[in-house]
Amino acid sequence: MSAHAVIRYADWMISPETAPEAPAIVHELQCTTCRSSSEANEDFETVRNWAFQHVGRHPSHTAYREIIHRFWRATLVR
Ligand SMILES: [Zn+2]
Repeated sequence: MSAHAVIRYADWMISPETAPEAPAIVHELQCTTCRSSSEANEDFETVRNWAFQHVGRHPSHTAYREIIHRFWRATLVR
């Protein structure tokens, strides 16, 4: 068996996704103590509610990291 790869040089542009079905930003919160995280959601209130529930169950887990998902699109430039 052999592998063959063709690499072609091309110019690409990467820019924010403009498709109407793509959300602008998706939020996620992660507990920095145990690394547990909310689900990614467009509604920040939903992920913040997860953090309130998490700290309620684990009162020593008081620090969180926000992870923001922003969608981009690569376009071949000719
Ligand atoms: Zn935690």
